[in-house]
Formats: sequence, C-alpha cells, structure tokens
Amino acid sequence: MPASRIPHRYDVPVTRIRILPDNLVNRIAAGEVVERPSSVVKELVENSLDAGATRILIELANGGRSLIRVTDDGCGMDADDALIALERHATSKIASPDDLDRIATLGFRGEALPSIAAVSRFELLTSADPAVGGVRITVEGGRILGTEPAARARGTTIEIRDLFFNVPARRKFLRAPETELRHASETVWGAALSRPDVGFILRHGNRTSLDAPPATDLSERLRALWPRAAKITRFSAAGGGAEIEGLIAPGSGNGRPSMTFLVNGRAVRDRLLVGAVLRVVRSAGAGFGGARVVVSLRLPPDLVDVNVHPAKTEVRFARGGAIFALVERALREGVAASQGRVPVHRLDDGDAMASEPGVGGYGELLRSRREAGAAPLFEHPAYGDSPPPSPDPVLVDLPSAPRTGAKAPST
Ligand code: ADP
Ligand code: MG
Repeated sequence: MPASRIPHRYDVPVTRIRILPDNLVNRIAAGEVVERPSSVVKELVENSLDAGATRILIELANGGRSLIRVTDDGCGMDADDALIALERHATSKIASPDDLDRIATLGFRGEALPSIAAVSRFELLTSADPAVGGVRITVEGGRILGTEPAARARGTTIEIRDLFFNVPARRKFLRAPETELRHASETVWGAALSRPDVGFILRHGNRTSLDAPPATDLSERLRALWPRAAKITRFSAAGGGAEIEGLIAPGSGNGRPSMTFLVNGRAVRDRLLVGAVLRVVRSAGAGFGGARVVVSLRLPPDLVDVNVHPAKTEVRFARGGAIFALVERALREGVAASQGRVPVHRLDDGDAMASEPGVGGYGELLRSRREAGAAPLFEHPAYGDSPPPSPDPVLVDLPSAPRTGAKAPST
C-alpha cells in the first residue's frame, strides 16, 4: 500500500461530490431553479430519489411559503460532502461532458441546494452512517451560520423556512397558500407516479393530503393517490423505438383533465404531449371532463433532450410529430376501452393490469384483432412495416393526426 494513502474513517469515497469545471457548467442549461415552493419540493424530492430513498416525507406549512421539509431514508452525506453540496455546481452525479449525454439521475447541475439556501432559512440534517454520526448545517440567505454534529438515522432532512425572506420581489409573486399547495401537490403526484416503488407522504399543516405506500406498479400507485377514481383503464402502445404506458380515469364535470407526463421516468411538462391528450379527451365526450391522465413514455435517450430547461421540467423530442401521433393513438384506445367499446383489461377486473408491457391493452387487442383478420388499430406509417392507417369503425370520429413534424395544437 502506498505510504501516501490516507486511511479514511468512512466507507464511502473521500469526496463523492465535486465541483464541476467551468467548461461543463457552461454546457448546462443555466437559470434559476427556485421559482416557488413547488420548485423547491421538486428539487428536494429528486435529490431524495437520486439518493436511493425508499420513503419520502414532504411537510409544508402555509402552502410551503413558511415551511418546506423533506425527509428521506436515502444514502445521506458525510460531513465533508454535506458542506460541499452547498457550493454551486457541486454534484456527485456527473463528472465529464460525456456524462451529459447519458444522464441517469434526476439532478445533475449541482445548483439546487445552493440556490435554495441562498433565498431561505435553510437547515440540512444528514447522516451517511449513524455509527459515525450526522451533521446539521444551518444556512441563512446563503451564509453558513453553523455546523454541528447531530444524531440521525441514515438519510437526509432538509428544512426550508421563509422562502424568499430576503428577496421581497420574489416573495411578492408567490400566490395564495392554496395555489402554492396545489402546485406542490402536482409536483409530488408527478414524483409519486414516476416512482411507484417509493413511498410518499405529503402533509400540509397537520393534514395528510397524500399517503402512497410503496406500490408494485403505476396502476396501484394511481389508485392510492386517487382513491375516488371509479375506474382506471390502462393503455399502451409502442412504435418508432418509443413505448407508452398510460392510465386514464374518467372524471366528473367538465373541467380540463389533470395530466401527468413521465418521459423516461422523469415527470415533465410538455405542450406537445398536453396537446395530444387534449385532442383525444376533448373529442371523447361526456365523462372525460376532469379526467386523470397519466402518460409514461420510454424512448432511447438520444431521441429526447432533458437538458433544455433549468428545472428539467421540459424536454425536446427529436421526432415530436411521431411522439404526438403515438400518444394520441394510445390514448384513443384507452378512451375507447374505458367506454367499454373494445375488449378491455380494467383495473377492477382482478387479473387486469398485468404489469408487463404488452400484456393486455393495446398489444393483446392488436393480436386478437389480427387473429380475427381485422384491420389493425391505429397503425401509423411512421412506425415501419405496418399498413397505412385505417379508421377504426368502433371508435368515435376524431380529427386526423397531425403530420410528422407538425406543431401540436397549443393549449
Ligand atoms: P444535483 O442534484 O444537481 O447534483 P443539488 O444541489 O441538488 O445538485 O445537490 C448537490 C449534491 O448534494 C448532490 O449531487 C448529492 O450528492 C447531494 N445531495 C443532495 N440532496 C441529497 C439527499 N437528499 N441525500 C443524499 N445526498 C444528497
Ligand atoms: Mg438536485
């Protein structure tokens, strides 16, 4: 063993977190990640997921304006790493420019913690190894006020009080607590749907507004998030290298549907996807006002760019038109199935919801129709060797899909 090797008291590498070099920093979409309480919730929850948490507790007060606390049972940080994590562009998740092209973690910019700590009263309590002990770091408006040893089970708790206390111009733009809470819960919904295997609890004041224990699949998770859904129908489709798994639960009333989009497991906002869903749901008729739609899209990383928006909530598709068409045809089938107009595996059907892609839903429907000599449903020329699309007589009359490359209707 070389004499220079310094034995370390921790099991983990001495410095897992490093400061990114400037040339790499400049290639990352720049911008502020902290807009409102929901953006803080998003960043903290993503960090917890990246840390391998199996349970995440999110506590808010006053819509997150006065308190946001996120507690996880992830890998935690040792004292050295905890301090480094608070520096700008400190991340344990990427090291070289090449890594940018294959981002596997939710975070990678090393901006969230310092940005949040700069505009709040911030406390980080973390421990990587309870036998060694944890650390508590207190920061106010970006200034470190204190560091002290503190006991804690493995994991991390980050507490943010008085968001924007030192930036009145920003604070002024915060909305009523109910509005901020709504945004924050949408964020937690997105995270919870993206990771059914992780338990999520959201508390506001002393009310538990969401309690989703670890689940085995998306359907079970949606059921926990939305117990009042009468019926949840699963749909799926694949083509052009992309795969879709989705859920639709009809609503009551005539409101806009609530939509959650996951792209390679990441919850995103995307006008193209919203456009595709609205196009189908609006023509679906009664029962779909206020519906809940979840669309989970998987595609090769080189066909989607997540490094577009500082908060990583937007993506860019290499083949937007094809994705639009795929989502549209998958959801059409989901709506039709939900209306009982085609053979359907419903969540309530017992066996239903086999979690394997291609079982039930679109794949099975397609197979059974092929066997019966029927024209394929929703085949699209963009997806290779399939015959040209033929309108399916069972389905409602829908406007035709936009051509590949066409712009999605704005919302
Ligand atoms: P990024 O997530 O982009 O790397 P952040 O500022 O969000 O940047 O976090 C900086 C680093 O702090 C992360 O790379 C990670 O190593 C560490 N970290 C943050 N939150 C947690 C957590 N909840 N558990 C363990 N490590 C964390
Ligand atoms: Mg992060």
